[in-house]
Amino acid sequence: MTMGVTYAVTTLLDVNAVQDVNYRAESRTYIVADRDTGKAVIIDASIEHVDRDLKFVKELDLTLAFAVETHIHADHITGASMIKDLTGAHIVYGGGVVGIVSGADIFLHDGQELRFGKTAMRALATLGHTDSCTSYVLPGAVFTGDCLLIRGNGRTDFQDGSAEKLFDSVRTKLFALPDETIVYPGHDYTGRVSSTIREEKKFNERLNLGVDKHTFVAIMNGRKITRPAKMDIALPANMNAGRMILDEQRSNRRNMASSSQTSVIESFDS
Ligand code: FE
Repeated sequence: MTMGVTYAVTTLLDVNAVQDVNYRAESRTYIVADRDTGKAVIIDASIEHVDRDLKFVKELDLTLAFAVETHIHADHITGASMIKDLTGAHIVYGGGVVGIVSGADIFLHDGQELRFGKTAMRALATLGHTDSCTSYVLPGAVFTGDCLLIRGNGRTDFQDGSAEKLFDSVRTKLFALPDETIVYPGHDYTGRVSSTIREEKKFNERLNLGVDKHTFVAIMNGRKITRPAKMDIALPANMNAGRMILDEQRSNRRNMASSSQTSVIESFDS
């Protein structure tokens, strides 16, 4: 155990049932557990994988205090409301989605902390991928959602995204964290689990310290990327913390695993 670190991170890979090379849907879910008390948070849970995630929570003998979201996802539906129903965990979104998201228990504004046991996780408003993205900072680690990815960054062409804001978020906020801070992204399409701020300053394709803002903005605004295939389902569902889809599933008496609504969420989110 690293000296002074009060928590443990479990990384979970969310691969879509229909994932293929053209429709990559993998996103990441993290369980952060306070070592002392077993109180835990789950970050960016996907509705398709709630059973798996809660199995890990049980195995590790943890108590889920919070289901936390980095942003309103366009590629998958959040499992936050389902987790709340099954565990009593409170739903947490960043402060940027006040008035946009319903069904959240807590909005964590820039600089505010979420405490579970001896561990405190701080919200960092990192706009750009969407206009309401939040990263979450622990001593020695940061969950960057789709703002900063490993060697890359989230797309900025919808949900009021902004290449200018993303550049500033990364350079002035994320790159201001200690170099050894471990970066846990919202997606990775190459199989990597984590990076560090030091690595990204040096090796990030578009955001390394050698790239200026003008160049970055020109690159981002010139990109042509496929829209996430199920964006029209995912966005309204996630603006209700995933509750809408949950209600629909219940009324249809569908089995989660066979639900066509949730098993075909394709994405290309970066
Ligand atoms: Fe995203």
